[in-house]
Amino acid sequence: MITLPRLRCPNCGKAMGPVSAKEIPPANKFEECLRRCEKCRIGASNAKNPAKVKFIHADQPQEPAPPKP
Ligand SMILES: [Zn+2]
Repeated sequence: MITLPRLRCPNCGKAMGPVSAKEIPPANKFEECLRRCEKCRIGASNAKNPAKVKFIHADQPQEPAPPKP
């Protein structure tokens, strides 16, 4: 069993998780995130390390990061 630690929603500060699951799938979109803020429609990617978590907005298509100037 893997437990993803609790995070805070970057928008409203609400706690997301902790979540335990047998398998942690990679999250590339909001629906795949195990930790979500339904109010803000923001999901946290399924990284165990909080420093590596990316926040995914449900209404925002995933795009590669823009190149740095
Ligand atoms: Zn929120």
